[in-house]
Amino acid sequence: MSLRIRFTLLYSLLAGGILLIFGTAVYVLVGILLINQVDDTLTQTTRDIVSNTRIDSVGELSVIILPKFNFTSNLFVQVWDANGNLHSTSQNIGGYNLPLDSTGLEASLPVYRDVTIQQAHLRTISVPLLVGDRPIGTLQVATSTDLIDSIRSILFYILLGTTLISMFLAGISSWFVIGQALAPLNMVTDTALQISHANDLSRRIPYHGSEKDEIGLLILSFNETLERLEKLFASQQRFLADVSHELRTPLTVIKANADLIRMMKEVDFESLDSIKEETDRLTRMVGDLLLLAQAESGKLPLNFKPVELDTLLLDVLKDLHLLAGDRVQLKISEIDQVQVNGDADRLKQVLVNLISNAIKYTPGAGTVTFELSKVENQSKLRIRDTGPGIPAEDLPHIFERFYRAEKSRTRSKTSGFGLGLSIAYWIINIHGGSIEVESQEGQGTTFTIWLPLINTETTLVED
Ligand code: ADP
Repeated sequence: MSLRIRFTLLYSLLAGGILLIFGTAVYVLVGILLINQVDDTLTQTTRDIVSNTRIDSVGELSVIILPKFNFTSNLFVQVWDANGNLHSTSQNIGGYNLPLDSTGLEASLPVYRDVTIQQAHLRTISVPLLVGDRPIGTLQVATSTDLIDSIRSILFYILLGTTLISMFLAGISSWFVIGQALAPLNMVTDTALQISHANDLSRRIPYHGSEKDEIGLLILSFNETLERLEKLFASQQRFLADVSHELRTPLTVIKANADLIRMMKEVDFESLDSIKEETDRLTRMVGDLLLLAQAESGKLPLNFKPVELDTLLLDVLKDLHLLAGDRVQLKISEIDQVQVNGDADRLKQVLVNLISNAIKYTPGAGTVTFELSKVENQSKLRIRDTGPGIPAEDLPHIFERFYRAEKSRTRSKTSGFGLGLSIAYWIINIHGGSIEVESQEGQGTTFTIWLPLINTETTLVED
């Protein structure tokens, strides 16, 4: 059963239920009020009659003056003596000589009852007539309840009709209101179906209502999810394209060299060297990709311990001294003793990536300057080079996988795959730190690594 039908039924039944309870209360209350009014009239009549009743010297009923009811009067009176004989009746009762209420004749207190005589509904009162404690007879007064019956039945039909009409109206109005409220949900379903049929993640659900109501929030989050999915999908496609592109060149070189060896029918060491070089490159790339995948999914195995960042920096500089040679001058402008909590091998990898980049991209007679200091509870490492800088349009993408600034895209033996900075970004990220880059074309580039100092309250991500 659809949500719309379920809600419509619920509202109709709710409206019907409320009106039913209300109607029953009104019906019962009106009935009680009307009967009370009739009972009051009966009581008053019995009082009038009793006040006009005389008893003789032996204590028997003697004179009863009955009110002069005309035939159209709705009040019937009977006076019965103690032996159960009819003593007197009102004129309008005619020849009817049976008790108006036979059980009422035995009552010792005034009693009201509903009786049916010759298909007429009557309300009766039976009042015992006493001299002292001695019963000398019973006075019975009755009145027809036809009016009450018809008022009750009219009221019953009015209330029943009102309940049914209200249920119908509640059903119709909720059908339309719920239909309107659920319309955006149908739009969500339609769009979701279109997306899955057309394989088009660029579609969004149009919504013109308030963004603060439940439907608005649902559509907003659905559109946000679509946007994320679209970006993820695009990045996955770009990633596949990048990997294929990076694989193609070394594979072409390997294949060409293998063909050459086969053609020459002798081992050519130059070709073998080239094959080895390309295989090494491929191995490096696969290793980097694996590392990146592990880092991005938070599954990179890390061995956290206190690391002397200053010692690590000096070690890396010693290792890379050869790469800088006489071409690039490595200069330490400031070095504090800094201890961080981290995986020494991974942090070293970050330093090697950044420093080798700085050396690699800085032309001859350039300088790379290092500055390691403490700022509040953070360690700050700056690596500043006097290289060509990174174009402003490339800067926001520099930490993306396979991203290489346009100028450095020309492939050389030393050129990387554009994975080094991504790896550095993720490693610093899982150490609870951050990495920043500032660059101006022609002026040089500065990378700054922030890491939480040891002994601070900072929570570190551990694997
Ligand atoms: P690669 O292995 O290609 O160097 P990276 O991820 O380490 O990959 O760097 C991405 C790109 O960022 C590089 O291709 C280069 O264009 C640019 N880059 C990185 N460091 C520097 C730097 N110090 N000076 C100029 N450009 C840089």
